[in-house]
Amino acid sequence: MTATQDSASESDDEDDTFEEQRARVDKPMRRLFRQYGSLHRRPLGIGLGASLFAHTLALLPPFVLGLAVDAVFLQTEPYDLPLVPDSWLPTGQVDLFWLSAGIVAASFFLSALFQWGKGWGLSVFAQRVQHDVRADTYDAMQGLDLGFFADKQTGELMSILNNDVNRLEQFLNGGLGVLTQLLVTVLGVAGLLFYVNPQLALLTLVTVPIIAVFTHKFVQTIQPMYADVRSTVGRMNSRLENNLGGIEVIKASNTETYETDRVTDTSQEYYDTNVRAITTRVKFFPGLQLTAGIGFVITFVVGGVWVFQGAPGPFSGPLSVGNFVTFVYLGQRLIWPMAQFGQLINLYQRAQASAERIFGLVDEPTDLPEREDATDLVVTDGRVEYDDVTFGYGRDDDEDATVLDGVSFDLDSGEMLALVGPTGAGKSTVLKLLPRLYDVDSGAIRIDGHDVRDVTLGSLRESIGYVSQETFLFYGSVKENIAYGTFDATDEEIREAAKMAEAHEFITEFEEGYDTLVGERGVKLSGGQKQRVGIARVLLQDPDILILDEATSDVDTETELRIQRSIDRLVEDRTVLAIAHRLSTIKDADQILVLDDGEVVERGTHDRLLDAEGVYADLWGVQAGEKSALPNH
Ligand code: ADP
Repeated sequence: MTATQDSASESDDEDDTFEEQRARVDKPMRRLFRQYGSLHRRPLGIGLGASLFAHTLALLPPFVLGLAVDAVFLQTEPYDLPLVPDSWLPTGQVDLFWLSAGIVAASFFLSALFQWGKGWGLSVFAQRVQHDVRADTYDAMQGLDLGFFADKQTGELMSILNNDVNRLEQFLNGGLGVLTQLLVTVLGVAGLLFYVNPQLALLTLVTVPIIAVFTHKFVQTIQPMYADVRSTVGRMNSRLENNLGGIEVIKASNTETYETDRVTDTSQEYYDTNVRAITTRVKFFPGLQLTAGIGFVITFVVGGVWVFQGAPGPFSGPLSVGNFVTFVYLGQRLIWPMAQFGQLINLYQRAQASAERIFGLVDEPTDLPEREDATDLVVTDGRVEYDDVTFGYGRDDDEDATVLDGVSFDLDSGEMLALVGPTGAGKSTVLKLLPRLYDVDSGAIRIDGHDVRDVTLGSLRESIGYVSQETFLFYGSVKENIAYGTFDATDEEIREAAKMAEAHEFITEFEEGYDTLVGERGVKLSGGQKQRVGIARVLLQDPDILILDEATSDVDTETELRIQRSIDRLVEDRTVLAIAHRLSTIKDADQILVLDDGEVVERGTHDRLLDAEGVYADLWGVQAGEKSALPNH
């Protein structure tokens, strides 16, 4: 059965890392309909309206059949259509027969037509809401600070944008469809049966709550089982992925048997959990059939006895053959929608949990709020000032987590600052604070006298260029990758930038030149080539301030020279903050800051620092090959 196959909300939520976010969301489903549903009222209205008509019309044939049996074939009762005046109806037997046939045919035809309208309306509605929600959620997520991303796994965030958003669609399409069918059918059947014979109707409808409780219980039982199945599938996938990725190691270390055993174990686990779920699942339909069957037999026996012997037991009044036929026929109509009752609840619960996660993410406050009165930063000189900056990555004020402690410096227009120090000293962290990837805990960072927290994020980041250790290439052409961030650049400008970055030559050697596809799935560029694409990107952007965290990757001497030349062009006339890996950068820097454990331990120019014979002089000695190891201090 499809009803409950791939689902489970409660168990999904057990170790939900979004618990905090979810707890903040109030009435998510109502919000979903208010915020998004109201934008697409037309398809929703068409879908629900058509569904109402389709399922109502589907109830007519059994009812008309009952009428015809009594009025046309047995001629024991008058032909009594509810809501239709008797004077409109023909009187002859044959005419009534054709009228009945006509009504039945028309109901089938129109019902099919409305089913189509229902399918169209609800699908379009669900798809549109899905699209809107996904776009908005992505946008909100992208606006969050990096600290948030450090806490969450990429897979978890992907899962919200994919699975959770899709679950909303499933509910809005499938769930709403089932809901209207269920409501219309149960209410319609109940109404007609009560109209025909209220006493027998009560007896027939007793199965409705029984089936409802039965399917609900079933869903409750099977949900955790499916959750187990899913988590074993997850484990199995990770294991397989891991093994295939590490196949070289497995072969080289001759651990094939060990790995085969491990895979067999997880596969066995999957088998066990799955079989458990299946044995429960296969009981559902026979159980449902049995319940429905018992209900049917009871209606059949009581109704049958009633017809040929008169009202049995507590019942009273007459029951015609036609009424009996209507009961037997319509009663059957209840079973299938009721069987979906469990699925409906399940779909709803899952959608609710998903909506909570989605809105929780959308509502997540950012740690880097833009001030209401923030103005656009206009860089005039490009002066950069760090004033007693203290910072730690932890969101809570944990003393031990301080990464930078009282870092201060003043950088004049066009000057270059080089940061030096051992790994983990906090060099990258100093640089990340300037474009506000994080905010300082205390102190301030100013550009031309403006606190970076007082200006708009967009204008701030636009004026700062960033050459990182590893240039990230998006899947697309080289051209697009160079123009990334400067989307209105002309081809000529892109070429010019590539030439300055010494990238033009290798790009034109590709068969498709600037249109060559790179990034994941594209041509793989070498580390040195990527760096130059990154430099071209920043050259094109032409920022006033530059952050340079150049790579230390091993490149041949010629490439190194080319990179150096392109960097020289890049740093010209800009204020530069660099993490110094190359000796040349250090030597020419206007200021050198030696960081250790988040504190500035030495500062000055190259010559002054060498004279001081401190940490810098030692580091320099090692790098320049004059000393083979650092002294112990
Ligand atoms: P450097 O660039 O000098 O090697 P970093 O600025 O990268 O040093 O790191 C300084 C300290 O901050 C290190 O202890 C590092 O573990 C920590 N750190 C760096 N990035 C993060 C992060 N995103 N979250 C938490 N801690 C971090």
